[in-house]
Amino acid sequence: MSHLQQADPQIFDVLQKEVDRQNEGLELIASENFVSRAVMQAMGSPLTNKYAEGLPGKRYYGGCQYADIAENIARDRAKELFGCDWVNVQPHSGASANAAVYLTLMKPGDTFLGLNLAHGGHLTHGSPVNFSGMLYKSEYYGVEKDGPMAGRIDMDKVRDKALEIRPKMISIGASAYTRDFDYATFRSIADEVGAFLWMDMAHTAGLIAAGLLNDPMPHCHIVSTTTHKTLRGPRSGMLLIGKDGENTMGRVAPKSGRVKNWGELFDSSVFPGMQGGPLMHVIASKAVAFAEALDDSFTTYGQDVIANASIMADEFIDRGYNVVSGGTDNHVVLIDLRNKGITGKTAEAALEAADITVNKNMVPYDTESPFVTSGIRVGTPAMTTRGMKGNEFKEIVALIDRVLSDPHNEGNITSVKGAIHEMTTHFPLYDFVTA
Ligand SMILES: *Cc1c(COP(=O)(O)O)cnc(C)c1O
Repeated sequence: MSHLQQADPQIFDVLQKEVDRQNEGLELIASENFVSRAVMQAMGSPLTNKYAEGLPGKRYYGGCQYADIAENIARDRAKELFGCDWVNVQPHSGASANAAVYLTLMKPGDTFLGLNLAHGGHLTHGSPVNFSGMLYKSEYYGVEKDGPMAGRIDMDKVRDKALEIRPKMISIGASAYTRDFDYATFRSIADEVGAFLWMDMAHTAGLIAAGLLNDPMPHCHIVSTTTHKTLRGPRSGMLLIGKDGENTMGRVAPKSGRVKNWGELFDSSVFPGMQGGPLMHVIASKAVAFAEALDDSFTTYGQDVIANASIMADEFIDRGYNVVSGGTDNHVVLIDLRNKGITGKTAEAALEAADITVNKNMVPYDTESPFVTSGIRVGTPAMTTRGMKGNEFKEIVALIDRVLSDPHNEGNITSVKGAIHEMTTHFPLYDFVTA
Protein backbone atom coordinates (compact mmCIF):
# COMPACT_ATOMS: atom_id res chain seq x y z
CA MET A 1 0.00 0.00 0.00
CA SER A 2 3.06 2.27 -0.13
CA HIS A 3 1.95 3.92 -3.41
CA LEU A 4 -1.36 4.88 -1.90
CA GLN A 5 0.29 6.04 1.29
CA GLN A 6 2.48 8.46 -0.69
CA ALA A 7 -0.08 9.57 -3.25
CA ASP A 8 -3.08 10.05 -0.98
CA PRO A 9 -2.37 10.12 2.75
CA GLN A 10 -5.97 11.07 3.51
CA ILE A 11 -7.49 7.96 1.94
CA PHE A 12 -4.62 5.82 3.21
CA ASP A 13 -5.50 6.99 6.71
CA VAL A 14 -9.13 5.94 6.22
CA LEU A 15 -7.99 2.49 5.04
CA GLN A 16 -5.69 2.07 8.03
CA LYS A 17 -8.49 2.86 10.42
CA GLU A 18 -10.98 0.61 8.63
CA VAL A 19 -8.53 -2.31 8.64
CA ASP A 20 -7.98 -1.76 12.38
CA ARG A 21 -11.74 -1.72 12.88
CA GLN A 22 -12.13 -4.99 10.99
CA ASN A 23 -9.19 -6.59 12.84
CA GLU A 24 -10.21 -5.58 16.37
CA GLY A 25 -13.99 -5.73 16.32
CA LEU A 26 -16.56 -8.48 16.19
CA GLU A 27 -18.29 -8.56 12.80
CA LEU A 28 -21.72 -10.13 13.14
CA ILE A 29 -23.55 -8.52 10.22
CA ALA A 30 -25.08 -11.54 8.49
CA SER A 31 -24.48 -10.20 4.96
CA GLU A 32 -20.77 -9.54 5.48
CA ASN A 33 -17.67 -11.68 5.23
CA PHE A 34 -13.87 -11.35 4.94
CA VAL A 35 -12.37 -12.14 1.53
CA SER A 36 -8.92 -13.65 1.04
CA ARG A 37 -5.88 -11.63 0.01
CA ALA A 38 -6.00 -13.41 -3.38
CA VAL A 39 -9.58 -12.24 -3.99
CA MET A 40 -8.53 -8.68 -3.09
CA GLN A 41 -5.46 -8.78 -5.32
CA ALA A 42 -7.52 -9.71 -8.39
CA MET A 43 -9.89 -6.83 -7.57
CA GLY A 44 -7.09 -4.31 -7.13
CA SER A 45 -5.57 -5.13 -10.53
CA PRO A 46 -5.06 -3.44 -13.94
CA LEU A 47 -8.07 -5.37 -15.27
CA THR A 48 -10.02 -2.38 -13.95
CA ASN A 49 -8.71 -0.49 -17.01
CA LYS A 50 -10.38 -2.71 -19.59
CA TYR A 51 -13.64 -2.05 -21.40
CA ALA A 52 -15.25 -5.37 -22.38
CA GLU A 53 -18.91 -4.70 -23.28
CA GLY A 54 -20.47 -7.86 -24.69
CA LEU A 55 -19.62 -11.46 -23.85
CA PRO A 56 -16.43 -13.52 -24.30
CA GLY A 57 -15.73 -13.89 -28.02
CA LYS A 58 -18.41 -11.28 -28.87
CA ARG A 59 -17.09 -7.97 -27.54
CA TYR A 60 -17.68 -4.43 -28.71
CA TYR A 61 -14.04 -3.49 -27.95
CA GLY A 62 -10.63 -4.74 -29.09
CA GLY A 63 -7.96 -6.05 -26.75
CA CYS A 64 -10.31 -8.33 -24.84
CA GLN A 65 -8.32 -11.56 -25.28
CA TYR A 66 -7.35 -11.78 -21.61
CA ALA A 67 -10.61 -10.36 -20.32
CA ASP A 68 -12.29 -13.19 -22.27
CA ILE A 69 -10.14 -15.82 -20.58
CA ALA A 70 -10.88 -14.39 -17.12
CA GLU A 71 -14.63 -14.26 -17.74
CA ASN A 72 -14.72 -17.78 -19.20
CA ILE A 73 -12.86 -19.14 -16.17
CA ALA A 74 -15.33 -17.36 -13.86
CA ARG A 75 -18.29 -18.77 -15.81
CA ASP A 76 -16.93 -22.34 -15.91
CA ARG A 77 -16.20 -22.33 -12.19
CA ALA A 78 -19.63 -20.91 -11.34
CA LYS A 79 -21.31 -23.61 -13.46
CA GLU A 80 -19.35 -26.32 -11.70
CA LEU A 81 -19.98 -24.83 -8.27
CA PHE A 82 -23.75 -24.60 -8.65
CA GLY A 83 -24.35 -27.40 -11.17
CA CYS A 84 -25.88 -25.19 -13.84
CA ASP A 85 -25.77 -24.81 -17.62
CA TRP A 86 -25.90 -21.05 -17.97
CA VAL A 87 -24.49 -18.21 -15.93
CA ASN A 88 -23.93 -14.49 -16.35
CA VAL A 89 -21.17 -13.16 -14.08
CA GLN A 90 -21.49 -9.51 -15.14
CA PRO A 91 -24.09 -7.98 -12.77
CA HIS A 92 -22.35 -5.33 -10.66
CA SER A 93 -24.33 -6.25 -7.54
CA GLY A 94 -27.21 -8.30 -6.21
CA ALA A 95 -29.62 -5.45 -6.95
CA SER A 96 -28.34 -5.25 -10.56
CA ALA A 97 -28.80 -8.99 -11.03
CA ASN A 98 -32.36 -8.65 -9.72
CA ALA A 99 -33.07 -5.72 -12.04
CA ALA A 100 -32.14 -7.99 -14.97
CA VAL A 101 -34.62 -10.61 -13.69
CA TYR A 102 -37.50 -8.11 -13.68
CA LEU A 103 -36.46 -6.68 -17.04
CA THR A 104 -36.51 -10.15 -18.60
CA LEU A 105 -39.63 -11.69 -17.06
CA MET A 106 -41.95 -8.77 -16.22
CA LYS A 107 -43.51 -5.79 -17.94
CA PRO A 108 -44.14 -2.62 -15.93
CA GLY A 109 -47.44 -3.03 -14.08
CA ASP A 110 -47.20 -6.84 -13.90
CA THR A 111 -47.83 -8.45 -10.52
CA PHE A 112 -45.39 -10.61 -8.59
CA LEU A 113 -45.61 -12.45 -5.30
CA GLY A 114 -42.70 -12.31 -2.86
CA LEU A 115 -41.77 -12.58 0.80
CA ASN A 116 -43.06 -9.67 2.88
CA LEU A 117 -40.22 -7.21 3.43
CA ALA A 118 -41.16 -6.92 7.11
CA HIS A 119 -40.82 -10.72 7.38
CA GLY A 120 -37.30 -10.91 5.94
CA GLY A 121 -37.74 -10.04 2.25
CA HIS A 122 -35.32 -7.73 0.45
CA LEU A 123 -35.65 -4.12 -0.73
CA THR A 124 -35.52 -5.30 -4.35
CA HIS A 125 -38.53 -7.56 -3.79
CA GLY A 126 -41.07 -4.77 -4.08
CA SER A 127 -40.23 -2.01 -1.61
CA PRO A 128 -42.08 1.19 -2.58
CA VAL A 129 -38.79 3.13 -2.51
CA ASN A 130 -37.10 0.66 -4.89
CA PHE A 131 -37.59 0.30 -8.69
CA SER A 132 -39.17 -3.11 -8.04
CA GLY A 133 -42.00 -1.51 -6.09
CA MET A 134 -42.26 1.55 -8.33
CA LEU A 135 -42.53 -0.26 -11.67
CA TYR A 136 -44.25 -3.51 -10.69
CA LYS A 137 -47.15 -4.49 -8.49
CA SER A 138 -45.93 -6.39 -5.43
CA GLU A 139 -48.01 -8.81 -3.39
CA TYR A 140 -46.71 -10.73 -0.42
CA TYR A 141 -46.68 -13.98 1.47
CA GLY A 142 -45.32 -13.94 5.02
CA VAL A 143 -44.30 -16.07 7.96
CA GLU A 144 -46.66 -17.39 10.63
CA LYS A 145 -47.20 -15.31 13.74
CA ASP A 146 -47.93 -18.05 16.31
CA GLY A 147 -48.11 -21.76 16.75
CA PRO A 148 -45.70 -24.50 15.70
CA MET A 149 -44.98 -22.72 12.39
CA ALA A 150 -44.18 -19.33 14.02
CA GLY A 151 -41.51 -17.55 12.01
CA ARG A 152 -41.85 -20.03 9.12
CA ILE A 153 -43.55 -19.86 5.72
CA ASP A 154 -46.76 -21.90 5.43
CA MET A 155 -46.79 -23.20 1.84
CA ASP A 156 -50.57 -23.68 1.83
CA LYS A 157 -50.93 -19.94 2.39
CA VAL A 158 -48.47 -19.19 -0.40
CA ARG A 159 -50.59 -21.34 -2.72
CA ASP A 160 -53.84 -19.64 -1.65
CA LYS A 161 -52.33 -16.23 -2.28
CA ALA A 162 -50.92 -17.28 -5.66
CA LEU A 163 -54.31 -18.67 -6.74
CA GLU A 164 -55.97 -15.44 -5.62
CA ILE A 165 -53.68 -12.96 -7.38
CA ARG A 166 -52.31 -15.08 -10.26
CA PRO A 167 -48.84 -13.43 -10.33
CA LYS A 168 -46.58 -13.31 -13.37
CA MET A 169 -43.65 -14.23 -11.15
CA ILE A 170 -43.09 -15.68 -7.68
CA SER A 171 -39.93 -14.75 -5.83
CA ILE A 172 -38.15 -16.66 -3.08
CA GLY A 173 -35.18 -15.49 -1.08
CA ALA A 174 -34.61 -13.24 1.88
CA SER A 175 -32.26 -11.11 3.91
CA ALA A 176 -33.55 -12.26 7.28
CA TYR A 177 -35.22 -15.67 7.04
CA THR A 178 -33.68 -18.34 9.22
CA ARG A 179 -35.25 -21.46 7.67
CA ASP A 180 -34.71 -23.28 4.39
CA PHE A 181 -37.08 -23.02 1.41
CA ASP A 182 -39.22 -25.79 -0.11
CA TYR A 183 -38.38 -25.14 -3.76
CA ALA A 184 -40.28 -28.14 -5.14
CA THR A 185 -43.54 -26.93 -3.61
CA PHE A 186 -42.88 -23.36 -4.77
CA ARG A 187 -42.38 -24.73 -8.28
CA SER A 188 -45.59 -26.72 -8.23
CA ILE A 189 -47.46 -23.56 -7.16
CA ALA A 190 -45.74 -21.53 -9.88
CA ASP A 191 -46.69 -24.15 -12.48
CA GLU A 192 -50.27 -24.24 -11.23
CA VAL A 193 -50.72 -20.49 -11.75
CA GLY A 194 -48.42 -20.18 -14.78
CA ALA A 195 -45.86 -17.99 -13.02
CA PHE A 196 -42.09 -17.78 -13.33
CA LEU A 197 -40.18 -18.86 -10.24
CA TRP A 198 -37.19 -16.75 -9.19
CA MET A 199 -34.85 -17.52 -6.29
CA ASP A 200 -32.66 -14.72 -4.94
CA MET A 201 -30.02 -16.66 -2.99
CA ALA A 202 -27.93 -13.57 -2.15
CA HIS A 203 -27.54 -14.57 1.49
CA THR A 204 -27.26 -18.32 1.29
CA ALA A 205 -25.30 -18.87 -1.97
CA GLY A 206 -22.19 -20.10 -0.13
CA LEU A 207 -24.18 -22.60 1.92
CA ILE A 208 -26.01 -23.81 -1.21
CA ALA A 209 -22.68 -24.12 -3.08
CA ALA A 210 -21.38 -26.23 -0.20
CA GLY A 211 -24.43 -28.51 -0.53
CA LEU A 212 -25.67 -27.70 2.97
CA LEU A 213 -29.09 -26.26 2.08
CA ASN A 214 -31.78 -27.31 -0.42
CA ASP A 215 -30.75 -26.74 -4.04
CA PRO A 216 -32.87 -24.18 -5.92
CA MET A 217 -31.30 -24.91 -9.33
CA PRO A 218 -33.49 -27.84 -10.43
CA HIS A 219 -36.72 -26.00 -9.50
CA CYS A 220 -36.35 -22.32 -10.31
CA HIS A 221 -36.58 -20.65 -13.71
CA ILE A 222 -33.91 -18.17 -12.73
CA VAL A 223 -31.60 -17.79 -9.73
CA SER A 224 -29.87 -14.54 -8.79
CA THR A 225 -27.24 -13.95 -6.15
CA THR A 226 -24.65 -11.67 -4.68
CA THR A 227 -21.12 -13.03 -4.51
CA HIS A 228 -19.95 -11.31 -1.31
CA LYS A 229 -22.11 -12.75 1.48
CA THR A 230 -21.74 -16.43 2.48
CA LEU A 231 -20.09 -17.06 -0.91
CA ARG A 232 -17.13 -14.92 0.32
CA GLY A 233 -16.16 -13.30 -2.98
CA PRO A 234 -15.92 -9.68 -4.12
CA ARG A 235 -18.88 -7.31 -3.79
CA SER A 236 -20.89 -8.25 -6.90
CA GLY A 237 -23.78 -10.22 -8.42
CA MET A 238 -24.57 -13.13 -10.76
CA LEU A 239 -27.45 -14.90 -12.57
CA LEU A 240 -27.82 -18.66 -13.08
CA ILE A 241 -30.12 -21.14 -14.82
CA GLY A 242 -30.06 -24.81 -13.80
CA LYS A 243 -29.15 -27.79 -15.97
CA ASP A 244 -31.14 -28.40 -19.13
CA GLY A 245 -32.24 -24.76 -19.08
CA GLU A 246 -35.01 -24.76 -21.66
CA ASN A 247 -36.69 -27.70 -19.93
CA THR A 248 -36.30 -26.13 -16.50
CA MET A 249 -37.95 -23.03 -17.89
CA GLY A 250 -40.79 -25.27 -19.08
CA ARG A 251 -41.53 -22.95 -21.96
CA VAL A 252 -39.83 -21.58 -25.03
CA ALA A 253 -38.23 -18.17 -24.83
CA PRO A 254 -39.96 -15.38 -26.74
CA LYS A 255 -37.84 -14.71 -29.82
CA SER A 256 -36.56 -11.19 -30.23
CA GLY A 257 -33.92 -10.37 -32.81
CA ARG A 258 -30.91 -12.65 -32.52
CA VAL A 259 -31.95 -13.87 -29.09
CA LYS A 260 -32.73 -17.60 -29.16
CA ASN A 261 -33.07 -18.87 -25.61
CA TRP A 262 -33.61 -17.80 -22.01
CA GLY A 263 -29.90 -17.47 -21.28
CA GLU A 264 -29.49 -15.05 -24.18
CA LEU A 265 -32.55 -13.09 -23.05
CA PHE A 266 -31.07 -12.63 -19.57
CA ASP A 267 -27.66 -11.81 -21.10
CA SER A 268 -29.19 -9.01 -23.12
CA SER A 269 -31.06 -7.70 -20.07
CA VAL A 270 -27.75 -7.37 -18.21
CA PHE A 271 -26.03 -5.76 -21.22
CA PRO A 272 -27.21 -3.64 -22.99
CA GLY A 273 -30.45 -3.76 -20.96
CA MET A 274 -29.20 -2.19 -17.78
CA GLN A 275 -25.43 -2.07 -17.60
CA GLY A 276 -22.59 -0.78 -19.74
CA GLY A 277 -19.11 -2.24 -19.40
CA PRO A 278 -18.64 -5.12 -16.96
CA LEU A 279 -16.15 -4.72 -14.09
CA MET A 280 -13.48 -7.11 -15.37
CA HIS A 281 -11.30 -6.82 -12.24
CA VAL A 282 -14.30 -7.90 -10.16
CA ILE A 283 -15.12 -10.74 -12.57
CA ALA A 284 -11.52 -12.01 -12.27
CA SER A 285 -11.88 -11.74 -8.50
CA LYS A 286 -15.13 -13.73 -8.63
CA ALA A 287 -13.22 -16.46 -10.48
CA VAL A 288 -10.70 -16.60 -7.63
CA ALA A 289 -13.48 -16.80 -5.03
CA PHE A 290 -15.29 -19.56 -6.97
CA ALA A 291 -12.10 -21.65 -7.01
CA GLU A 292 -11.87 -21.20 -3.24
CA ALA A 293 -15.51 -22.26 -2.90
CA LEU A 294 -14.87 -25.38 -5.02
CA ASP A 295 -12.22 -26.54 -2.55
CA ASP A 296 -13.25 -29.11 0.08
CA SER A 297 -12.27 -26.68 2.83
CA PHE A 298 -15.22 -24.49 1.83
CA THR A 299 -17.66 -27.29 2.74
CA THR A 300 -16.10 -27.44 6.19
CA TYR A 301 -16.37 -23.66 6.39
CA GLY A 302 -20.09 -23.79 5.55
CA GLN A 303 -20.69 -26.54 8.12
CA ASP A 304 -18.98 -24.40 10.75
CA VAL A 305 -21.03 -21.33 9.76
CA ILE A 306 -24.27 -23.25 10.32
CA ALA A 307 -23.07 -25.02 13.50
CA ASN A 308 -21.94 -21.71 14.98
CA ALA A 309 -25.28 -20.04 14.19
CA SER A 310 -27.15 -22.92 15.87
CA ILE A 311 -24.94 -22.58 18.93
CA MET A 312 -25.67 -18.85 19.08
CA ALA A 313 -29.42 -19.46 18.75
CA ASP A 314 -29.35 -22.02 21.60
CA GLU A 315 -27.32 -19.71 23.83
CA PHE A 316 -29.70 -16.81 23.23
CA ILE A 317 -32.68 -19.04 24.03
CA ASP A 318 -30.99 -20.24 27.24
CA ARG A 319 -30.60 -16.61 28.26
CA GLY A 320 -34.28 -15.89 27.79
CA TYR A 321 -34.15 -14.29 24.33
CA ASN A 322 -36.95 -14.81 21.84
CA VAL A 323 -35.28 -16.26 18.73
CA VAL A 324 -37.57 -15.95 15.68
CA SER A 325 -38.62 -19.43 14.40
CA GLY A 326 -36.99 -20.95 17.50
CA GLY A 327 -33.57 -21.43 15.92
CA THR A 328 -31.93 -21.43 12.51
CA ASP A 329 -31.15 -23.64 9.50
CA ASN A 330 -28.58 -21.23 8.08
CA HIS A 331 -26.10 -18.51 9.07
CA VAL A 332 -28.63 -16.02 10.50
CA VAL A 333 -30.15 -15.65 13.96
CA LEU A 334 -32.99 -13.16 14.28
CA ILE A 335 -33.76 -12.00 17.81
CA ASP A 336 -37.01 -10.38 18.88
CA LEU A 337 -36.06 -8.09 21.77
CA ARG A 338 -39.58 -7.07 22.83
CA ASN A 339 -39.53 -9.23 25.98
CA LYS A 340 -36.21 -7.60 26.97
CA GLY A 341 -37.62 -4.07 26.88
CA ILE A 342 -35.02 -2.76 24.42
CA THR A 343 -35.43 -1.70 20.79
CA GLY A 344 -33.27 -2.81 17.87
CA LYS A 345 -31.96 0.73 17.51
CA THR A 346 -30.78 0.96 21.12
CA ALA A 347 -29.33 -2.56 20.99
CA GLU A 348 -27.39 -1.82 17.79
CA ALA A 349 -25.94 1.39 19.24
CA ALA A 350 -24.95 -0.16 22.57
CA LEU A 351 -23.29 -3.13 20.84
CA GLU A 352 -21.48 -0.85 18.41
CA ALA A 353 -20.00 1.04 21.38
CA ALA A 354 -18.52 -2.31 22.48
CA ASP A 355 -17.13 -2.92 18.93
CA ILE A 356 -19.73 -5.62 18.26
CA THR A 357 -21.26 -4.89 14.85
CA VAL A 358 -24.82 -6.14 14.28
CA ASN A 359 -27.81 -4.57 12.58
CA LYS A 360 -31.18 -3.65 13.93
CA ASN A 361 -33.85 -5.54 12.02
CA MET A 362 -37.61 -5.71 11.75
CA VAL A 363 -39.02 -8.90 13.24
CA PRO A 364 -42.23 -10.46 11.86
CA TYR A 365 -45.30 -8.51 13.06
CA ASP A 366 -43.05 -5.75 14.39
CA THR A 367 -44.73 -2.91 16.25
CA GLU A 368 -41.84 -0.46 15.82
CA SER A 369 -40.92 1.56 12.72
CA PRO A 370 -38.23 0.28 10.32
CA PHE A 371 -35.87 2.92 11.72
CA VAL A 372 -36.30 1.75 15.33
CA THR A 373 -37.28 -1.95 14.98
CA SER A 374 -37.78 -4.56 17.70
CA GLY A 375 -34.99 -6.88 16.71
CA ILE A 376 -31.40 -7.49 15.81
CA ARG A 377 -30.00 -9.81 13.16
CA VAL A 378 -26.71 -11.57 13.77
CA GLY A 379 -24.76 -13.84 11.45
CA THR A 380 -21.73 -16.10 11.70
CA PRO A 381 -20.06 -16.03 8.22
CA ALA A 382 -17.44 -13.37 8.95
CA MET A 383 -16.22 -14.54 12.35
CA THR A 384 -16.27 -18.18 11.17
CA THR A 385 -13.91 -17.12 8.37
CA ARG A 386 -11.58 -15.85 11.10
CA GLY A 387 -11.62 -19.33 12.62
CA MET A 388 -13.92 -18.88 15.60
CA LYS A 389 -15.72 -22.01 16.81
CA GLY A 390 -18.47 -22.98 19.25
CA ASN A 391 -16.69 -21.85 22.43
CA GLU A 392 -16.05 -18.39 21.01
CA PHE A 393 -19.64 -18.03 19.81
CA LYS A 394 -20.91 -19.00 23.28
CA GLU A 395 -18.64 -16.35 24.76
CA ILE A 396 -19.89 -13.84 22.16
CA VAL A 397 -23.52 -14.41 23.19
CA ALA A 398 -22.55 -13.95 26.85
CA LEU A 399 -20.87 -10.62 25.98
CA ILE A 400 -23.85 -9.47 23.88
CA ASP A 401 -26.14 -10.36 26.78
CA ARG A 402 -23.96 -8.34 29.16
CA VAL A 403 -24.32 -5.25 26.95
CA LEU A 404 -28.05 -5.66 26.28
CA SER A 405 -28.85 -6.26 29.96
CA ASP A 406 -27.43 -2.83 30.82
CA PRO A 407 -27.25 -0.87 27.54
CA HIS A 408 -26.50 2.55 29.06
CA ASN A 409 -23.75 1.46 31.46
CA GLU A 410 -20.55 2.86 29.93
CA GLY A 411 -18.21 1.06 32.31
CA ASN A 412 -19.80 -2.25 31.43
CA ILE A 413 -19.59 -1.52 27.69
CA THR A 414 -15.92 -0.55 27.98
CA SER A 415 -15.09 -3.77 29.75
CA VAL A 416 -16.93 -5.85 27.11
CA LYS A 417 -15.03 -3.97 24.40
CA GLY A 418 -11.76 -4.94 26.11
CA ALA A 419 -12.83 -8.60 26.14
CA ILE A 420 -13.71 -8.40 22.41
CA HIS A 421 -10.33 -6.92 21.49
CA GLU A 422 -8.58 -9.61 23.52
CA MET A 423 -10.59 -12.33 21.78
CA THR A 424 -10.01 -11.06 18.21
CA THR A 425 -6.21 -10.88 18.64
CA HIS A 426 -6.26 -14.70 18.73
CA PHE A 427 -7.85 -14.84 15.24
CA PRO A 428 -5.57 -12.81 12.96
CA LEU A 429 -7.22 -11.31 9.88
CA TYR A 430 -5.37 -8.71 7.79
CA ASP A 431 -1.77 -7.83 8.62
CA PHE A 432 -1.35 -4.92 6.21
CA VAL A 433 -1.79 -1.16 6.57
CA THR A 434 -2.60 -1.36 10.26
CA ALA A 435 -2.17 1.90 12.11
C1 LIG B 1 -28.02 -8.37 -0.14
C2 LIG B 1 -29.20 -8.75 -0.94
C3 LIG B 1 -29.41 -8.22 -2.22
C4 LIG B 1 -28.66 -7.03 -2.77
O1 LIG B 1 -27.34 -7.12 -2.97
P1 LIG B 1 -26.48 -5.80 -3.28
O2 LIG B 1 -25.22 -6.39 -3.81
O3 LIG B 1 -26.34 -5.07 -2.00
O4 LIG B 1 -27.20 -5.01 -4.31
C5 LIG B 1 -30.46 -8.71 -2.97
N1 LIG B 1 -31.27 -9.66 -2.49
C6 LIG B 1 -31.12 -10.16 -1.25
C7 LIG B 1 -32.07 -11.22 -0.77
C8 LIG B 1 -30.09 -9.72 -0.43
O5 LIG B 1 -29.97 -10.20 0.81
